[in-house]
Amino acid sequence: MRVYEMSAAAGLGSWKPAERPTPEPGRGQVLVRLRAASLNYRDLLIAQGQYPFAVVLSCLDSRQPVEILFDQGIGDLFVARVAGNYCPVDLLGSTEFATKVAGAKLVVVLGHTECGAIKGACDNVQLGNLTTVMHALQPAVDEAPDPGGERTSKNKKFVLAVTETNVRRTVAGIRVNSPILRDLEQSGQIKIVGAMYDIATGEVTFIQ
Ligand SMILES: [Zn+2]
Repeated sequence: MRVYEMSAAAGLGSWKPAERPTPEPGRGQVLVRLRAASLNYRDLLIAQGQYPFAVVLSCLDSRQPVEILFDQGIGDLFVARVAGNYCPVDLLGSTEFATKVAGAKLVVVLGHTECGAIKGACDNVQLGNLTTVMHALQPAVDEAPDPGGERTSKNKKFVLAVTETNVRRTVAGIRVNSPILRDLEQSGQIKIVGAMYDIATGEVTFIQ
């Protein structure tokens, strides 16, 4: 399992995998340690409330389990998920709560490679309520730089360009649509950044 240094969240650049220590042999010992850790977490949460240090706005994709890929546990992160990691008003309000009320210091918009939602938007998919999601992603399809080749999901370079454009649009949209978050950032109380998760390598790269 890959482990990532969440402490790198305050800076920009790539996160490198770290080595996880090998568990001690013996299922009994491991189970005891797991129970102890679980009780410690529970006691801590009940006694002190919750103090997550970051909000991650992520895609719904099952290959991008946010707490696991950043090696974070209970109470460490607010995670808001929607296919295509855009930021509708519900998630914008949730992010305002997470920062202004609950004190999280970092907002990360996390896109990923091989995103099915982005591919669907590239092909103008229409399916029930999913069509609303596709419409929300369409501006990124229209604005993505031309990497050459056809502008459909068959073109991996185009899909990647749309995915990165969508992350940048989402970050910009958060600043435009939320005076609360914009003010928090301008006063240095929070940071809002975009990032890309490569599902093939497990690497997270921040987008300037
Ligand atoms: Zn996705």
